[in-house]
Amino acid sequence: MSNHFFDLVRSRLPADPAGRLFLETPEGLRWSYADLVAASGRYAAALAGLGVRPGDRVAVQVEKSPAVIALYLGCVRAGAVFLPLNTAYTPAEIAYFLGDAEPALFVCDPARAGELRSVASSAGVAQVGTLDAAGEGTLAAEAAGQTGDFADVARAGDDLAAILYTSGTTGRSKGAMLTHDNLASNALTLVAYWRFTADDVLIHALPVFHTHGLFVATNTVLMAGAAMIFLPRLDAPLILSLMGRASALMGVPTFYTRLLKEPGLTREAARGMRLFVSGSAPLLAETHRAWQDRTGHPILERYGMTETNMSTSNPYDGDRVAGTVGFPLPGVSLRVVDPESGEPLGTDAVGMIEVRGPNVFKGYWRMPEKTAAEFKADGFFITGDLGKVDARGYVHIVGRGKDLIITGGYNVYPKEVEAEIDGLPGVLESAVIGLAHRDFGEGVTAVVVPRGDARPSEAEILGALQARLAKFKLPKRVLFVDELPRNTMGKVQKNLLRDAHKDLYGV
Ligand code: ATP
Ligand code: MG
Repeated sequence: MSNHFFDLVRSRLPADPAGRLFLETPEGLRWSYADLVAASGRYAAALAGLGVRPGDRVAVQVEKSPAVIALYLGCVRAGAVFLPLNTAYTPAEIAYFLGDAEPALFVCDPARAGELRSVASSAGVAQVGTLDAAGEGTLAAEAAGQTGDFADVARAGDDLAAILYTSGTTGRSKGAMLTHDNLASNALTLVAYWRFTADDVLIHALPVFHTHGLFVATNTVLMAGAAMIFLPRLDAPLILSLMGRASALMGVPTFYTRLLKEPGLTREAARGMRLFVSGSAPLLAETHRAWQDRTGHPILERYGMTETNMSTSNPYDGDRVAGTVGFPLPGVSLRVVDPESGEPLGTDAVGMIEVRGPNVFKGYWRMPEKTAAEFKADGFFITGDLGKVDARGYVHIVGRGKDLIITGGYNVYPKEVEAEIDGLPGVLESAVIGLAHRDFGEGVTAVVVPRGDARPSEAEILGALQARLAKFKLPKRVLFVDELPRNTMGKVQKNLLRDAHKDLYGV
């Protein structure tokens, strides 16, 4: 038997791996494909030397660096399960994840090793290693002492390659079990659909603890034999200055809104770029339009989740329609069903989105009941997202099932109300939530971020909405805030807003 994912990586390596760039950093570090294979082999050997066995989890909370990619592939090659954790997590949160995942090894930043060592030992984790943003630490030293020619551990397509915890936007994060085949099939699909070749240079400024930066971006580059410029974080002026010698950018919507604030963002600046991809959160149609006006490029929006990798994408050649996430990717089946009856719905009807395909995960880590509840008998996974498919086959995400507001027996989709509010003068953005209400069950409530000093009043907003929305969709109250709570992937955390204002209607 062979190592399903890494065999594929090997089979797609450039003919001259030592002469082809895999990544470079602004600090001047350059790794060829040969360097990547050797570095991942050294990490695999280091893990095996530390007693990490096939199937063991390796939990990793470290700052982004090329070494994290070598460690990720080292885990895969050693037959271990890579388990990256958000760098923003506090020791208390880390304690939860370590208790849940029971890793054989926990890798953290040397600067946090003091406090996290005791967290790890209370969670029963036997070993702690360190790795910092410069790629130094005890685990790095262990790897440096190994030779790079590691004999990959045999793993089948159905074996676990990684566990990624979901972003925790709607509640506590769940560990999604991703197999070798999930990663392999999705990466190959994206390379073909987005036309990645060895000539591509991707600007990679996403975190690598999330599916977007780790799998969508890195695996796509890897499978195409392309190169990436690896930035520690979103840095709009730096990204802009790199566009002249790159070909593609993958980002969350915040990337695009930040870049649009750069006066240097012009057609000329983006001339050599061939692809701008957005995902992880809804891209406003306004951003899509503004980007096209300024750069001449229509952003390609796609939809996926930790559990499903990528499920849909706007087309490479055809119309990239603002406000849609495009078509199901080749090999992915997608349907919209009535959330109550489970019956498939027709064109334009809003319901629950379900997907099936080689991209869909194996289940939630140590949550067999939840896993069983989220899969249908015919293999479709219930995404929790509401949406519709239009007459041309484009998929629209209307919002999350958990954010749907039921007020006085009527369904209100927050996105529809938000779109109206966002279009009003003096409004930057908004989030519409349902709060407990004695008469209505839930009261539609708008949380609004004003734009500049021309702050509209609550009465003005409500007055303007009256002409645009049916009465039951109108917010009962409008609250003003300076900014919406967002997590690292740019997702609005409505659960925090609901918690903060839960007593607004005095229930
Ligand atoms: P949790 O499941 O823990 O609440 P999460 O769902 O935010 O967190 P992720 O797996 O990172 O965790 O995010 C997947 C979700 O992101 C999708 O279910 C969908 O709601 C949203 N999403 C991703 N891409 C898009 C997009 N292009 N448009 C709208 N929503 C998107
Ligand atoms: Mg989710």
